[in-house]
Amino acid sequence: ATPTAIMVGSGLGAKRGILFKNATAIETAARIDTVVFDKTGTLTKGEPEITDVVVDGMDRDRALALAGAAERESEHPLARAVVNYVDAADVPRLRATAFRNVTGIGALAEVDGHHVAIGNRRLMESENIEVGELGQRRDQIASGGRTAVFVAVDGRVVAVLGIADAVRETSEAAIRALHESGVEVVMLTGDNRATAERIAAELEIDTVIAEVLPEDKAMEIKKLQAQGRTVAMVGDGVNDSPSLVQADVGIAVGAGTDVAIEAADVVLMRSDPLDVPVALTIGRGTLRKMR
Ligand code: ADP
Ligand code: MG
Repeated sequence: ATPTAIMVGSGLGAKRGILFKNATAIETAARIDTVVFDKTGTLTKGEPEITDVVVDGMDRDRALALAGAAERESEHPLARAVVNYVDAADVPRLRATAFRNVTGIGALAEVDGHHVAIGNRRLMESENIEVGELGQRRDQIASGGRTAVFVAVDGRVVAVLGIADAVRETSEAAIRALHESGVEVVMLTGDNRATAERIAAELEIDTVIAEVLPEDKAMEIKKLQAQGRTVAMVGDGVNDSPSLVQADVGIAVGAGTDVAIEAADVVLMRSDPLDVPVALTIGRGTLRKMR
């Protein structure tokens, strides 16, 4: 595109809080045929809240206190939801003495002389913990589109928590607009398949890639590119930055982490999913002026 067209394009974007970092970002935006969205914090608000607490074989307050202590050390949005809930529940405050974040699956901690593991089924598997009866409750929670998290104490699952993160108001309209311009939409998430599929169905998303570990997210983008697609990735989190770099156009939500914003080619200052189709439209308009 001509320098003038690029300037017009970036000016149009800037007015809406869509920041293209360079000319290539605008030009490539015109050619995007596949948009991959991260789920949590991108299509959803990233303000998860506890909706279900199922405790088995342990005093409820005790289980919550242990879970809260373990999650207090974590920076994960789900951990924040657990901590907020536990604090509001007015249970005794415990402190974790050792903490280890297991990226993309959960966390491990020593609390009050007990070994606490909190996270998804994959974490329980890697810790050799049987989920038992509570596995069924997990399935119910997940089929409702909520994220299920197991709490295990000393190798035994004592609770399953359901966590819901509301979909952003404009996510559905954004996906519709992308479809109308012939773009395919994919959801990429570390969350479990049932939860992801429920939300994807609500939003009419074509393809779901779920249960992906943070380090494998960029590879999923590469696979789509190997099919000959030109891919935009939209994300907010630290986990998303390698895939933002791998994508032909990386788009960071402005409300996201500094790392994601740094890694992206385009930043959406308003964190509005509708600005994704707008960014692509600006790209196409810019390219048209070139011809
Ligand atoms: P996303 O792709 O939605 O950003 P992540 O890769 O960060 O998700 O996490 C994937 C899954 O790992 C979560 O859905 C959750 O089940 C589990 N998980 C990760 N960290 C934690 C934690 N601190 N507490 C509980 N569960 C966690
Ligand atoms: Mg995220």
